[in-house]
Amino acid sequence: MARIAFIGLGNMGLPMARNLLAKGHAVTGFDLSEAALAALEGDGGTRAASAPAAVTEAEVVVTALPAASHVRGVYCGEDGILAAAPRGTLFIDCSTIDVASARAVAEEAAARGQSIVDSPMSGGVGGATAGTLSFMVGGPEEAFARARPVLEAMGRNIFHAGPAGNGAAAKLCNNLMLAIQMISVAEGMNLAKALGLDPQVLYDISSTATARCWSLNDYCPEPGPVPAAPSNRDYQPGFAAGLMLKDLRLAMESAQTGGIATPLGAEATQIYALMDLAGQGGRDFSGVIRFLRGEV
Ligand code: NAD
Repeated sequence: MARIAFIGLGNMGLPMARNLLAKGHAVTGFDLSEAALAALEGDGGTRAASAPAAVTEAEVVVTALPAASHVRGVYCGEDGILAAAPRGTLFIDCSTIDVASARAVAEEAAARGQSIVDSPMSGGVGGATAGTLSFMVGGPEEAFARARPVLEAMGRNIFHAGPAGNGAAAKLCNNLMLAIQMISVAEGMNLAKALGLDPQVLYDISSTATARCWSLNDYCPEPGPVPAAPSNRDYQPGFAAGLMLKDLRLAMESAQTGGIATPLGAEATQIYALMDLAGQGGRDFSGVIRFLRGEV
């Protein structure tokens, strides 16, 4: 059992930390939110007064922070956790950030004698709670091997995607595909209703035909066919549209830098940006089906 520091106890981080505690690890946590710290303590964790204070005795540090600016701020520099932790500590960053930032943090980690993997995740709050997340891991083989048992306490599918930054790359490519896929299912469902075709009938047909995909089969944006999907609870996330927009913007930045044509990704980014501007960024991303019907 390891001494683990957990920084960023939000929608994802708190249930992940709970799973580490449930597997017998000792977890010291830090978050800017008092409520998050109190919740961790309530579950048997220990609170720290700051991020550097959380890592001073850690063997492993897990972070689940909102964006690259938070990751760089928490990790880097003389006040950062890379400097504060004992040499040889393993860092696992589960935040979704751009590839260049993941590689920059990995370079500083190497310079300070620390081990790090970028390990973004998919599976949403449901997966974080159930301990069934998928992790896409970038970093050296030996760091991946050390990270694996910790990740297995929080998830089910653990993939080594290659060297530093490749976990971030896999995450952005996956969510680019997912964002487009969800809009396609929403458009099909909306058209079916307009044509007088029962969405359940379309689901029964298409979920076994050529349009089958995760967004349809497992996360149907139309209420009814998939009882556990957010569509059946007024599109409470799940995975918020605002977070999908963040991931799409990161993917579009990379595509532009690399000169890669992603016209549907660009369109999907605009659709989620409009949804966000309409005040629906906190709704599950499958709520795009309602947004496309002009409903709020
Ligand atoms: P969240 O906003 O709920 O949680 C982030 C937490 O980080 C907050 O509690 C915040 O107070 C804390 N924080 C911010 N700055 C901090 C700092 N300097 N020091 C300590 N704590 C700090 O976000 P989330 O939904 O838990 O997502 C975390 C990461 O996981 C994001 O990068 C997100 O893109 C990614 N992700 C989220 C989901 C999801 O479904 N929510 C799914 C996959 C990946």
